[in-house]
Amino acid sequence: MKRTLESIVPTNTVLEGGGFKVRRPAAMGRLMSPFLLLDEMGPVVYGPGEAVGAPSHPHRGFETVTYLLAGGMQHADSAGNSGDLNPGDVQWMTAGRGVIHSELPQDHMMEHGGKMHGFQIWVNLPAKDKMMPPRYQDIPSKDIPEATSEDGTVWAKVIAGEALGTSAVIDTVIPITYIHMKMQPGATYAHACEADHNVMVYAFGGSVAIEGRSLHDGGLGLLSPGDSVELTAEEDGAEFLILGGPELDEPIARYGPFVMNTRQEIYQAVEDYNNGTLA
Ligand code: MN
Repeated sequence: MKRTLESIVPTNTVLEGGGFKVRRPAAMGRLMSPFLLLDEMGPVVYGPGEAVGAPSHPHRGFETVTYLLAGGMQHADSAGNSGDLNPGDVQWMTAGRGVIHSELPQDHMMEHGGKMHGFQIWVNLPAKDKMMPPRYQDIPSKDIPEATSEDGTVWAKVIAGEALGTSAVIDTVIPITYIHMKMQPGATYAHACEADHNVMVYAFGGSVAIEGRSLHDGGLGLLSPGDSVELTAEEDGAEFLILGGPELDEPIARYGPFVMNTRQEIYQAVEDYNNGTLA
């Protein structure tokens, strides 16, 4: 059965971290398991000294996934991981029982400014994995598979899951689909989906039609159940993310950077952070 575009969630522009602008679909945390948040960072062009990021802060109970399209970020965390994120790179950070990290523009961005654009999504963990040891996958762009349709009208970067017969290299705790797709005007692509997964599409350029309903730049489309979705790029072409994953069907207790199942677990996370034992 083909999926339809069941509802469209508009995005708000909000300030995050040290004051950087993100486009964020409204009420994201309650939208579609297992995704807790989808932030489009920028696009923004910083002047010299203007770039801002998110200084040292904790996480527990889920994963943060950062995908950069333009600019440069640097990160460092309490598990001893550090590195640079350049255009096309992905950092898949599983906070598990606890991580304290900083996510900042690279020094050259701080000094000279420049364009910054990217995404951060939060992926929930099942209750049984919330306290797993932190895990960190830093995947450079050259190692992330890309695929193009035979006629050249559809391009995909396969961050997680599968598209155009190409499988991702990133190892996810629960099965996740995360595809960046660009389609030329009029192009059509039929994407196969796990029938029991939730699937959504976030458009960030042009417009894409799904079963006759259009999704425009800045719209998050929630799809009905089904085992495939047919996407057609409209006159300006289309650029979007396809995100999919299982329904966890577990209670969510959320406080800032902690996402657990019960309020007691949230109190514990705050206490562990205050005691210095979170990470
Ligand atoms: Mn963070």
